[in-house]
Amino acid sequence: MNRALALAAVLLLVGCSQPSFLEQYATIDLLIENGQVIDGQGGEPFMADIVIVDDEIVFIGDAAFSAADREERIDRSIDANGRVVAPGFIDLHSHGDPLATPALENFLAMGVTTITLGQDGSSPDVADLGTWLGEVGENGIGTNLAMFVGHGTLRDQAGIGRTAVPDREDLGRMLAMLDETLDVTFGMSTGLEYNPGLNAEREELEALAIVVGEHDRMIMSHMRNEDDDQIEASIAELLEQGRHARVHIAHLKSVYGKGSERAEEILAILDSARDSGIEITAEMYPYNASYTGIAIVFPVWAKTREQFDVAKVERREELEEYLRNRVNRRNGPEATLLGTDPYTGKTLAELAHETETPFEDVLIDEMGPDGASGAYFVMNDELQSRLLRDANVGVCSDGSPTGFHPRGHGTFARIIERFVVGEAVLTLPAAVAKMTSFAADVLGIADRGRLVEGMKADIIIFDPARVHETASYPDPLQFAEGFDVVIVNGRVAREDGTLTEVTHGRVLGPGG
Ligand SMILES: [Zn+2]
Repeated sequence: MNRALALAAVLLLVGCSQPSFLEQYATIDLLIENGQVIDGQGGEPFMADIVIVDDEIVFIGDAAFSAADREERIDRSIDANGRVVAPGFIDLHSHGDPLATPALENFLAMGVTTITLGQDGSSPDVADLGTWLGEVGENGIGTNLAMFVGHGTLRDQAGIGRTAVPDREDLGRMLAMLDETLDVTFGMSTGLEYNPGLNAEREELEALAIVVGEHDRMIMSHMRNEDDDQIEASIAELLEQGRHARVHIAHLKSVYGKGSERAEEILAILDSARDSGIEITAEMYPYNASYTGIAIVFPVWAKTREQFDVAKVERREELEEYLRNRVNRRNGPEATLLGTDPYTGKTLAELAHETETPFEDVLIDEMGPDGASGAYFVMNDELQSRLLRDANVGVCSDGSPTGFHPRGHGTFARIIERFVVGEAVLTLPAAVAKMTSFAADVLGIADRGRLVEGMKADIIIFDPARVHETASYPDPLQFAEGFDVVIVNGRVAREDGTLTEVTHGRVLGPGG
């Protein structure tokens, strides 16, 4: 073929390409026009239209529909008008009960289209997780769901409970249950700072990791101890399991560690593990306060009510001293903000002052380990910002529709508002990539997290300058603002602050 002919052939192909993609579809369900597309893969934004048929992105580019096509074949079009069009965010560590609050509007309002549940070693205590997931799907769910099975739950169900070393039979039963459940879950979560998971020792964790690895699933770990002087040991313990399966650090933090150099030391451990062939990733929430049950400050020998009742009588002095030291090391009683009635909104220091008793006595005589939950201001902004910049650290809310910490309603808005627009810790494409393709890759979700033809249409439209976190510590259950349109599986799920009546999320299957 001579050059002129070749050129003519190319022109012909280009000329034909647009009608041909359109001809495949009688109806275009949704057209998003004039968007500044950030595709989730880290590259620069580009202007393009996105064409959606059913739940799939079928075209990205200049759609240039004729007036007749618009009239006859396009069901709905949205003019993005220069706003950012990005993949919906994937929350790597979330909480909630989708049967109780199926809308999950707190997540949708901050641009999240997929959540992960079954975290921290705890999944629903049901005979068959697959059946439960079926019910969730039938009941309807606002976001997509990637499910994990909890190690602590398996331990309880296998009859091991708080025993340190399970006997052979119980261990075998737990491994068989894990083996079966991994068919419907993305992996196993551990909660080694909580009962009953904290009782597990190395051999048990290794045996579990082998089963997880055989299924090519992952271990999401709330590690044994997040204190600055314990974090290396906790990571080392997880890396042992990483010899058998992909491993992931949930809500990476250093409790009372300080400075960006300390963050770099922690990141260097993860880098060198990756260099040695271990697949390890992490995620974090962008706040300097954690949130969990007050048991977190109690010693392992007084974490349950049963243990505590004994310790209170037999080891009172030792318990007082432990609590005094631990709370003081965690920035003191003024850094513990309670979120459970009747204490809601008060710090532990305020309670101690009101009752004129030392705070350790308030913890022992008023609350006990199961008496309250709270926010703990134990993290350092500089250290956490440095962690956030790392390419192998993603984002999670660790929040729920009802949790009394702003992260459950604010996290993903805060990343854009504070860490992209405000402090420029991250560029917008890098932040979006973290919250989309990175998270999809961690979970092994192949068809979401990127705006690419052929992917599922989980899409958000927003102007970064208008994204705003309205949740705060005293008033944490406030929806984020600025994510104007949130599309789940090709359907508009929330638009201009209004939730669509029908839910459009799905229970996702692992390994695809
Ligand atoms: Zn956790």
